[in-house]
Amino acid sequence: MSVRVGLGYDLHRLVPGRPLVLGGVEIPFERGEDGHSDGDALLHAITDALLGAAALGDIGEFFPPDDPRWKGADSRELLRAAWDAVRARGWRLENLDCVVALQRPKFLPHRERARESIAAVLGVEVDRVFVKAKTGEGLGPVGEGDAVEAWASALISAEAPV
Ligand code: MG
Repeated sequence: MSVRVGLGYDLHRLVPGRPLVLGGVEIPFERGEDGHSDGDALLHAITDALLGAAALGDIGEFFPPDDPRWKGADSRELLRAAWDAVRARGWRLENLDCVVALQRPKFLPHRERARESIAAVLGVEVDRVFVKAKTGEGLGPVGEGDAVEAWASALISAEAPV
């Protein structure tokens, strides 16, 4: 059996007039992620963790930011497409563990919905997905409310990867 680990990271600027979407869940707030797609930093970090674990590339190669197909894209579709490519090589998900750094609003009340949303996109049990909520402790771009950051680590396994 093969086991592989992947790491993903993303940061998006928070600006007025954009939805705040994390883990595929829209969180009511007066600012949201700037970006070509819906800007879901958490799903982007997860997408990179899965692609990286399988050494298939990264989110920028799979979904080029200058490609009009991904303008305003629902990041759940990006994650699904990346995960399909990883799964097609015989990999299955052991677990995902993630961190969201967001000063305001609090992410914790939305954590369970985000876990369910991520698990649904990947077609796995919710207990394979966890997300922790951190603030920026008032420091730097996250702490000043100008950005959201997300990290994800993914463990994948296969009997005999293709
Ligand atoms: Mg991104």
